[in-house]
This record gives sequence, structure tokens and C-alpha cells, in this order.
Amino acid sequence: MKAIFFHTHGDLDVLEYGDFPTPEPGSGQVLVRLKAASLNRLDLWVREGWPGLKLEYPHIPGADGAGEIAAVGSEVEGWSPGERVVINSNLSCGVCRYCLSGFDNRCMKWGLLGETLRGTYAEFIAVPARNLLAVPDGFSLHHAAAAALVFHTAWHSLIRRGDLKAGETVLIVGASGGVNQACIQVAKLSGAVVYVIGSNPEKLSLAESLGADFLIDRSKEHDWSRTVYLMTGKRGVDVIVDNVASTYPESFRAAGKGGRILTVGNTGNPVVKIDNRYLFAKHLSLIGSSMGTHDDFHTVMGLVFSGKLNPVLDQTYPLDQAGIAQRRLARGEQMGKITLAID
Ligand code: ZN
Repeated sequence: MKAIFFHTHGDLDVLEYGDFPTPEPGSGQVLVRLKAASLNRLDLWVREGWPGLKLEYPHIPGADGAGEIAAVGSEVEGWSPGERVVINSNLSCGVCRYCLSGFDNRCMKWGLLGETLRGTYAEFIAVPARNLLAVPDGFSLHHAAAAALVFHTAWHSLIRRGDLKAGETVLIVGASGGVNQACIQVAKLSGAVVYVIGSNPEKLSLAESLGADFLIDRSKEHDWSRTVYLMTGKRGVDVIVDNVASTYPESFRAAGKGGRILTVGNTGNPVVKIDNRYLFAKHLSLIGSSMGTHDDFHTVMGLVFSGKLNPVLDQTYPLDQAGIAQRRLARGEQMGKITLAID
């Protein structure tokens, strides 16, 4: 099969396009002929590497993918070749205490396609059957692949961990980024009032089109935490989505009493000083999570398939141009999800 892979960490020039052995579906696995893959910032981080990340080379990037079943391994029931599917990139053992408690994204043997295992920038991938979800007829595989990781992550953070309720106020720190754009939609669907901080008028306007109620341009409002505080009648917001991390001091100030600050990652410096006085005096909770559970995936993708949540697509590149696609993402030029077309 054709695939994008790399033999060492580095810049875009480590990416190679070429032939790679087609995987065989093992017991309980299904072989998927991928038609669409979607890029995530994680793909760039995995390529660049971080201390402790050990990959089996050559490594194939990509967490998100959708396609058609090509073959079914032994001990698989309920799936047949030709069915259209989207992949949940979270791999779990199904038997550890976390899996049994329904939090399979905390699995003792947790893995992620494109990070701990080879991913979706390829013509084929073999995955456990339980990681597949059928895509309804007529629904675009590119939209399915683009929605998967970001909406899954947004749903788990806001709904499962953040316990977001209708009528609450939500502040999203950053108007770009697939997870933040998914969070705007999940928050609006939940009946929340949404504030978005952004630095780019185009991305703020996209946030508005996704349903954001209040837009704050931080290139004009340098003290945005005070702006939010004043905009909420000095009450502060109930829930803050902060996937920057270096902005925790501002987020803590913008939070109201009992506020929950949610994070699923850090686009800024991960090491940040926090002022503990805000935490206890305002009864704040700082709540982390990563990806989502099996049940969350089914719930949130059902909402995507029914049109209640809509992934925004940016541009589509052929598989062999994955490097150009990654460069666009690295430069932050995208206005939605970038996908790869695999034929
Ligand atoms: Zn487990």
C-alpha cells in the first residue's frame, strides 16, 4: 500500500511517501481501506517528538480516518466488507479497572492511532472492530474523519468532565484549533452562552458563524480577563476551555465562583505559575482530560451524523501531499479541518 511515514523525528522533510506493507487484520480486527484522513496538531507534535515518546519506525502519522471495510479478521461479528466506517482512534484493553468503569480513555494500556501505533496517513489500517462506527449513507467520509478526534475530545471535556449545563456561561480561549471550534458547537448545543477570545478577525468571524455569542479580540483587548469579568456583570464565567495553559492566570481571573477550568492540552508553554489564592477563594476546579470514551464517541458522532454538530472543513490534499498539508496546519493558516484524500 501507499503511505506517508518517517524514520526519525524532525521537520516536514522527514516525511516520506512510498510503499509500505499492507497490514493484516488480526483476531478481532478489521482492515479498513481509508478514503479520508484528517490532520490534528498532534500529528505535528508526534513528528517533532517529545521526551519519552518512543515510536516503532517507520512511523505512519494520523489519528483520524474514515473509509470502507476491506477485510474482516477472525472473531469479528457484525461487520462486512464494503461498509463505510469512521475510526475511534483511542485503543483500550477493555478489561482493566478503568475500562470496566466506563473510562476506557484512562485505560492502563491506552493507545492512540498515529501516536503509540501507526496511523491513518495510509491506504489501509487494521483496527479493533470495537473502534469502528458505521457512517450513514450519503454522509461524507471527509466530514466523518474531520469530526472524530476533535468532537470526541470536546464532548468528553465539556460534557463528561465539565458537566456543562444549559444556561451556563462558557469562555473559550482561542478561536482557532479544531477542538476549540468543536467546543463552541458542543457548548451551544448544550444551551450555554459562549464567549470566545481570539486574535484573528477571520477566525473570530468563523467562531461567530459556529454560534459564539460574544467575541473578544485580544489584539485590541489586552486585559481580556478583565473584559470578560466586566462583560459578565463582574460575575465571571462558569466554565473556561483553556487549551493554551500559559493563559491560566487570565483564565483564573475570568472565572466566576465555582468556575471549572477545562483543559485537554497546551498550545502554549505547558509549565505555568498559578496563583493558588484564586483556586480556593473562588472555589475553582481545574479539570484535565484526554480524548474520550467509547460511549462518548458513539454519542457525539451520532450528533455529527444528524447534523447537530458540523465539522468545518478547510482544504483537502492528496495523500502524497501530506507534508504541504502539515505545513499549512503548522503555520495556522487553516480555517477548519485539513483532510487528506486517499484513492
Ligand atoms: Zn483498559
